[in-house]
Amino acid sequence: MSTSIEKELQSEVDKRRTFAIISHPDAGKTTLTEKLLLFGGAIRLAGTVKGRKASKHATSDWMEIEKQRGISVTSSVMQFDYEGCRVNILDTPGHQDFSEDTYRTLTAADSAVMLIDSAKGVEAQTKKLFQVCSKRGIPIFTFINKMDREGRDPFELLEELEEVLGIRSYPMNWPIGSGKQFNGVYDRAQTQVELFQGDEHTNISVRKVDGYEDPLVKEIAGEFLHKKLCEDLELLDVAGDPLDMEKVLRGELTPVFFGSAINNFGVQTFLDNFLQMAPKPEPRNSSAGPIEPTEPKFSGYVFKIQANMNPAHRDRIAFLRIVSGKFERGMAVKHVRVGKEIKLSQPQQFLAQDRDIVENAYPGDIIGLFDPGIFRIGDTLAQGRELEFDELPTFSPELFSKVTVKNALKHKQYQKGIDQLTEEGTIQVFRTIGFEDTILGVVGQLQFEVLEHRMRAEYGVEIQLHRTNYQFARWIVDDKIDPSKFRVNSQLVKDKKDNYVALFENEYALRTSMEKNPTAKFLETAP
Ligand code: GDP
Repeated sequence: MSTSIEKELQSEVDKRRTFAIISHPDAGKTTLTEKLLLFGGAIRLAGTVKGRKASKHATSDWMEIEKQRGISVTSSVMQFDYEGCRVNILDTPGHQDFSEDTYRTLTAADSAVMLIDSAKGVEAQTKKLFQVCSKRGIPIFTFINKMDREGRDPFELLEELEEVLGIRSYPMNWPIGSGKQFNGVYDRAQTQVELFQGDEHTNISVRKVDGYEDPLVKEIAGEFLHKKLCEDLELLDVAGDPLDMEKVLRGELTPVFFGSAINNFGVQTFLDNFLQMAPKPEPRNSSAGPIEPTEPKFSGYVFKIQANMNPAHRDRIAFLRIVSGKFERGMAVKHVRVGKEIKLSQPQQFLAQDRDIVENAYPGDIIGLFDPGIFRIGDTLAQGRELEFDELPTFSPELFSKVTVKNALKHKQYQKGIDQLTEEGTIQVFRTIGFEDTILGVVGQLQFEVLEHRMRAEYGVEIQLHRTNYQFARWIVDDKIDPSKFRVNSQLVKDKKDNYVALFENEYALRTSMEKNPTAKFLETAP
C-alpha cells in the first residue's frame, strides 16, 4: 500500500458529491438539472436534457413506449466539475414510469435534493422518494421552485415539510414577495440580498447588506414587502431551528432554498451552499464491516441493470457505484457472487448523452459495465477480497397482476424472460400458495407495459396480464403463520426466496390483518 495512492484517493474522495434529485413530475427537475450542468461548464447540454432522452432511444424498439409518451423509462448519471468539486447527479425517472429502479438509484446517492413546486407543496411522488432517503438517513436539501409564480405561503410550505414528511427545516434564504411581486431573496448566512431580474441569464445582482433591517433592503423591497420580510425573519430567528449541521447530516433537518430554476435564480447560491454542506462519498456496509472510500482496494456494487441502452447491442448495462479504491480500465476484479475474476475493459460513464469510455474513476462515481447477463442487482465487485455489500432493499410493489401465457408451448421462453426481468429488478414475482399461480408486482404501471413489450420482442412470448385489486404488499415474519387469517381482501403468497408476503386490497384490510396477527411482523421491504 503506497501512500501516494492513499493521498490520491483522499483528494478525489474529498472532491466528490453524488446526489439524486427527488421530486414530483413537473416540479422542474429537468430545468434545474440543466441549470446545474450549465454551471458545471457543460453548456452544450443545457436545454437538451429532455430532448436527448427521446432521440437517444428513438430506434430502440421496446423504448417506443417511452417515446410515444415522451417520458424516460430509465435513469442515467450526469457528471460535471464545478469549483473544485466533481459532481455526480443520479437522474431518477420523473413521470408515470416511476419504478423500483427509482428507489434503488437512491441507494447509490450520498444525499438528495428535494425539489418542490411552491404552488403545490409536497406531492405524492416526492413523499415516496423522501421516505426511502429518510430510511437511509441521508441528508436532504430542499429547493422550493417557481417563486416567480404565485405560490403558497413559505411558512405554510415549511410546516408541510414537517407535517407530511416529519422533517424540520432551516431556510437558508427567504423570499421577498412572490409571484408578480417577487423581488428576490434575502440570504440569511451571507446577509445579502439577491435581486430577481426575471430573465434567463446569470447576471443576478447581489447586494451585501447589514442584516435585513438595513435601509437598503427596504429600498429594494419597498415598505410593504420589507415589513413582511422583517416580521418573517424575526420569527425565524426567534422560533426557528438553528442550522445544526449534525442534524442536517443525519437527515433530521433540511436546509431550504427558495428560487426559480427556469430563470436561473437562486440556483448558483444553492449549488455553492449545497456542495459545501453535502457529504463526500460515504462508506457502505459489507460482510467485512463498513468499507471506507479511501481503502486502496477497489470495490463497488451494482444497483441497477438496464437493458438495451444502445439498440445495436442486446447487452445490458449494469450500473456500479464505486465504494472504495481507484478504478482503472482493464483491471481485474472478483465477481464475488459467482466467485470469478473478471476484467473491466469496457466501462462507460454517462455524462449526459455521450457514453464516454472511462479510464479512471473513484469512490462516489458511477460506471456502467457491459453486462452479457452475468450481473444481478446487488452484486459486489471487489479487488482481491471476498467481501459482499449489504443486499439492496426490495421495495414493496404497489400494482399486481396475474400473468398467463397465451401459448403454453412457449413456457420455457416465458420462464427465461421472467427470470431475466426479475434479475434486472423491474418486476417482482410471487406465487400463490397451493395453486402456484404467478402474480407479478411492480411499483409503476409502465413496468407492466414494458414487460409485455419485452416478452414479445425479446422472447417471442405473448403474455396476458390480469390486474388484481391489491395495492399493498407486506413481508410477513411469524413463527406460526396461518394463511386462513389472510383471506378478507387479502392473500398470502410467496416471493422467489420463499418468504411469505401478504397482498392487501386496501389499508383497512392491512390494518385488520395486523390486528388478527399480533405476533407477526409486517415489513415493507423483504427481510
Ligand atoms: P420535471 O417534470 O420535474 O422535469 O419538470 P420540468 O423541468 O420539465 O418543468 C416543468 C414545467 O415547469 C416546464 O414547463 C418548465 O418550464 C416549468 N418550470 C420549471 N421551473 C420553473 C420556474 O422556476 N418557474 C416557472 N414559472 N416555471 C418553471
